[in-house]
Amino acid sequence: MAALIQCPICGRENDFFAEPTGPFCSSRCKQIDLGKWLGEDYRIPGSLSPEALEEAGGDGPPQEP
Ligand SMILES: [Zn+2]
Repeated sequence: MAALIQCPICGRENDFFAEPTGPFCSSRCKQIDLGKWLGEDYRIPGSLSPEALEEAGGDGPPQEP
């Protein structure tokens, strides 16, 4: 007996934890959720980008020839 869970994307109910795509009902819903994060919330502040850190100064780790 498995508890039903609800897909956070489309709202279908099933035993999605038994699926490799769980807790989503399908890989499609999983991709939609991933896209939401990448598009709306997953933002790296410019000041923390590697390029900005390199430009910020020469206090990086010592470089052996
Ligand atoms: Zn779904």
